[in-house]
Amino acid sequence: MATAVFFHAHPDDESLSTGGTMLLASRAGHRVVLVCATDGSQGETPGLAGSEAPTSEELAAIRAAELAAAADLLGVHRLVMLGYRDSGMRGDPANDDPDCFWQADVDEAAGGLAAILAEEQADLVTCYDANGTYGHPDHVMVHRVGVRAAELAGVGLVYEATLHRDHFRASMKELMRLAAEAGFDLSGDQDQAEFEAELDEGSIGVDGALVTHHIDVRTTLDRKRAAFRAHASQIPSDSFMVALPEGAFELAFGTEWFIRRGHLAADPVATDLFAALEQPSGPLAAS
Ligand SMILES: [Zn+2]
Repeated sequence: MATAVFFHAHPDDESLSTGGTMLLASRAGHRVVLVCATDGSQGETPGLAGSEAPTSEELAAIRAAELAAAADLLGVHRLVMLGYRDSGMRGDPANDDPDCFWQADVDEAAGGLAAILAEEQADLVTCYDANGTYGHPDHVMVHRVGVRAAELAGVGLVYEATLHRDHFRASMKELMRLAAEAGFDLSGDQDQAEFEAELDEGSIGVDGALVTHHIDVRTTLDRKRAAFRAHASQIPSDSFMVALPEGAFELAFGTEWFIRRGHLAADPVATDLFAALEQPSGPLAAS
């Protein structure tokens, strides 16, 4: 059995982007380690609307508890907080906080993660694609620090979690229809409009042809949805993210996507992050 380290930016990213993959790995008997870079203290709190806004310290404590609950649901064996402050969205004054992840020295932060990789004798590590999926400073740093840490610790199997742009472009209409059927009219929703604009301009996710691994996580969706619910400060219980009917939830969250670093997608695409440990060969990327 192998050990996989999943490196993420904020509490909730693990559930949204690799939650099913972690649970499948855990169920298959692998050791699953979750490392979270920041405390999530700059996140908005739509799930706490109506009550007094928490201070950043209070929010960090709330989010740490939510993360621990989600990690339990997702079969995580060990959860490590790397201890950086949330940098906030690009352009936010929090970007300048000397203790935030965006201001961290990449080699120093990578040293911290590399120590965990070495201690765990990690067989593989996941980070994000080079744009951090959607450009958030902390997500871009997860890419840089994850890649560097793997080099430092000599972990050769690195996966970049990403979003398959073409999947969402192709299924958006159907997703909207299923959501509308369930009473969620997303046609005037600002977040939804932003998401679609980002898909169109190519600032979110990657071209689907670059995705080497499609992980079918449909058997984990009950738990994955419960993990979303565990992040109650971020995802209100009545939001479409957790309340979508099964078919729509499956369309949006039933597959998780990764790029095996240094590799091109094969045909058919790979479906298991761990198979490479048995068969290390594969088409090498030219770059
Ligand atoms: Zn995040």
